[in-house]
Amino acid sequence: MTHEYDDTNIFARILRGEIPNDTVAETDHTLAFNDITPQAPVHVLVIPKGKYVTYDDFHAKASDAEIVDFHRTCARICAERGIVADGYRAISNAGRNAVQEVPHFHQHLIGGRSLGRMLAPAG
Ligand code: 5GP
Repeated sequence: MTHEYDDTNIFARILRGEIPNDTVAETDHTLAFNDITPQAPVHVLVIPKGKYVTYDDFHAKASDAEIVDFHRTCARICAERGIVADGYRAISNAGRNAVQEVPHFHQHLIGGRSLGRMLAPAG
């Protein structure tokens, strides 16, 4: 996937305040909000406020402060939403093969039920 950022993507619009979101946590560098179509009782999306397209783009280009803040925020949400004891899944889809729908880097934090195996075998 190209790392050219599309300012019209839905998470860019959320960050600009053009469309509402159900905020879970916010820091100087990071915003977290509930997924509009939750796949489990807990389904939070965590995004950097900076313009990064994918997991690799963010971790290659973001400042140390942004990266630490992002991951500390993820950890805090896991604790606050009570998904640590029983387990959860942290997923980031990148590009075509992973069917990334929104081209602004995001991590899904999913828990609150048994999630099964991560991937079906390739067929
Ligand atoms: P991806 O497939 O890119 O990893 O996941 C994109 C996620 O964004 C999906 O789980 C989808 O439900 C969620 N999503 C798409 N549009 C919106 C929106 O407008 N608001 C919120 N909160 N989530 C959205």
